[in-house]
Amino acid sequence: MNNLSQQLASIENFPLHQQRFLSQLIQHSSFNASFSAAQVATLLSEQPNIEQLLTDLVPLAQSYSVSPISNFKVGAVALAKSGAIYLGANMEFFDQALNQSIHAEQAVISNAWHHDETQLTKIAVSASPCGHCRQFMNELVDAGALEILLPQQSPVTLASLLPLSFGPKDLGVNQNLMASDKNNIANTNADELIIQASNGAQLSYSPYSKSPSGIALATKSAVYVGRYAENCAYNPSLSPLQSALIALHLANDKISDITQAVLVELKSAPVSQFPTSYSLLAQLCEVPLKHQRV
Ligand SMILES: [Zn+2]
Repeated sequence: MNNLSQQLASIENFPLHQQRFLSQLIQHSSFNASFSAAQVATLLSEQPNIEQLLTDLVPLAQSYSVSPISNFKVGAVALAKSGAIYLGANMEFFDQALNQSIHAEQAVISNAWHHDETQLTKIAVSASPCGHCRQFMNELVDAGALEILLPQQSPVTLASLLPLSFGPKDLGVNQNLMASDKNNIANTNADELIIQASNGAQLSYSPYSKSPSGIALATKSAVYVGRYAENCAYNPSLSPLQSALIALHLANDKISDITQAVLVELKSAPVSQFPTSYSLLAQLCEVPLKHQRV
């Protein structure tokens, strides 16, 4: 089954009207695993329970899972404060260290952030969030109040899943992932792809290491920009390459169709995404990652 067939099969349990509406959206070439607030309102006119809708969309999110190592398909569906809904799934990479894996909760947050959302209020997940994801979500605005919806469970808050949490404020940071100030990245290069990667660095979140970083991946049909998302516990951070691969995959584009890739970082930064990103990209396609320091 190809990606689209899997996505269509995952909505078969919806009532017919909703199924037809979702199917039209999913089959549109511009669909990128998100539903606007207006589309969500249409879906809710049939079934006005938002929590039920988020939970019912989890199989669609799971259909995006790339899990050749675990065969464990994780799907996450997030409701943004704007009323829009976003999907995300886990992604694993053959022949790479497991710490390159992307978790569904990271993917859905990255997807919403790419759509310029600043806050999420609810996330439905197919399985209980792991410790890594609880820590990753704790970086968000009003993280403690974020509602987590799990199969066969009453909603719980992130605060209840992560008692005595360690968060941005513990390191003296008053910013949050998805809602931080823009970085000051000089953008004088004439190359269009470098400009796009610089925009990714501009919007990236690195309040701890002060090492903004952005990437642009060009395929035959589009350009995907990735932003670095740092975490106060360091290890759950999401690299700009991971962030761009999420965007590419959720747009149903192919990693094998990447034609150019460039990473933009600051010359003075103490942290670099280049060595691990170069290695991961070299494993996935034949295009070498260029490194532009500004
Ligand atoms: Zn996780």
